[in-house]
Amino acid sequence: MGIKNVAVVGAGTMGNGIAHVFAQHGYKVYLVDQEEKFLDKAIATITANLDRQLKKEVITQEIKDKTLKNINKTLSIAALPADIDFFIEAIYENKDAKLKIFREAKEKFGDKTFYASNTSSISITELAAASIPEKFIGMHFMNPVPVMKLVEVIRGYSTTDETYSLIKELSISLEKEPVEVHDYPGFISNRILMPMINEAVFALYEGVAKKEEIDTVMKLGMNHPMGPLTLADFIGLDLCLNIMDVLYNGFKDSKYRPCPLLVKMVNAGKLGRKTGEGFYKY
Ligand code: NAD
Repeated sequence: MGIKNVAVVGAGTMGNGIAHVFAQHGYKVYLVDQEEKFLDKAIATITANLDRQLKKEVITQEIKDKTLKNINKTLSIAALPADIDFFIEAIYENKDAKLKIFREAKEKFGDKTFYASNTSSISITELAAASIPEKFIGMHFMNPVPVMKLVEVIRGYSTTDETYSLIKELSISLEKEPVEVHDYPGFISNRILMPMINEAVFALYEGVAKKEEIDTVMKLGMNHPMGPLTLADFIGLDLCLNIMDVLYNGFKDSKYRPCPLLVKMVNAGKLGRKTGEGFYKY
């Protein structure tokens, strides 16, 4: 496959998980963030997650040590080595900020590198326009990355078969299950998940049932590990609203309109677990 050196830009929730799985599977990882303290926090999280894997006997002490040795902290794209084979971006969900990263990376690496974004909702085709479109792809990992098996591999308008095959092989080398998806709003995961969550909010808004009842129906009736309102709190209500807006604007179809209660809760700053309150209190 020929990929050895991997740049992961953004060391937050997803970036540290992505760096973890690449490093664990023998790739040399250059983890990029804007400040040393974000990189230190990411390394501390990776270390804690490796310790958990070690305790559960999923990995050995030797793999833990090797994984940490494979990760290099880097403070800018300019400071990356020239021989990066694969570049993946996982900064916050902002199109302009992501476009800027890809422009800078294209300037530095040109067509020697394959490029990917971990975006949950921004068009891969649009991001690819700032990069090398043929060598650009969506690689949508799920949270928490070291645990979740799925990777949605999203082909932009110009992504070649060669690029797709390479990223498929790369995902398998990380012991993930790649699923091929084409670039339409929400891809598959969020196109199906978010309208379900939004419908659960509508059911609450219309007084069809109380929040606990709605969650119980989906947990016990559909075997979902958590109810949709609990899941919305976990994901963040702002992100749920943002993705509903992407679906609504992308398809221009009223079936994707966000529930007014979801909008109101986001306006009130009740964003779920991260703010201490969403549908439930934490
Ligand atoms: P996060 O806010 O936890 O982390 C983002 C990191 O990027 C921060 O550490 C920030 O300092 C860094 N960053 C911002 N601008 C930067 C720049 N110019 N250069 C380098 N680093 C920069 O975000 P996250 O939850 O990890 O999400 C990252 C991406 O993954 C988003 O596109 C999101 O939509 C997607 N995603 C998130 C989840 C999830 O459950 N959190 C799941 C799948 C996909």
